[in-house]
Amino acid sequence: MCGAPSTRVIDSRPAESGQAIRRRRECEDCGHRFTTYERLEPQLMVRKRNGRLEPFSTAKLAVGISAALADRPVSGSAIEHLAEEVEAKLRGLGSQVSSEDIGREVLERLRALDEVGYLRFASVYKEFQDAADFEKEVAALESAE
Ligand SMILES: [Zn+2]
Repeated sequence: MCGAPSTRVIDSRPAESGQAIRRRRECEDCGHRFTTYERLEPQLMVRKRNGRLEPFSTAKLAVGISAALADRPVSGSAIEHLAEEVEAKLRGLGSQVSSEDIGREVLERLRALDEVGYLRFASVYKEFQDAADFEKEVAALESAE
């Protein structure tokens, strides 16, 4: 390949029992031929506390983070960026993650971004059993400063 930006598809056919599309391409500049495979990105699934599986949604996660950051001086793009970072990290863990995995990754980043948002998100995600848990969390946060 010469690095020219444009290629022409000269053949396209299903591959891997229909799970992929194989394309034969030709460089429009030098005529070099090569093959590419287009595959569906595997759906990341979330295992809920009740054992049910549901598809991961970055948009839904961003809404949850936004709620925790209501009235806080954090921009929408910072929230989107955080959600995307979490998604990338979760994809590295495999095709299935737990609610706890998500909560942990969000909290780790929120803690550095906004303490109030961190505590609000923690109170939802960690499902504090009682006020003592919440106070322990606040104490841990304060001693880390
Ligand atoms: Zn070329």
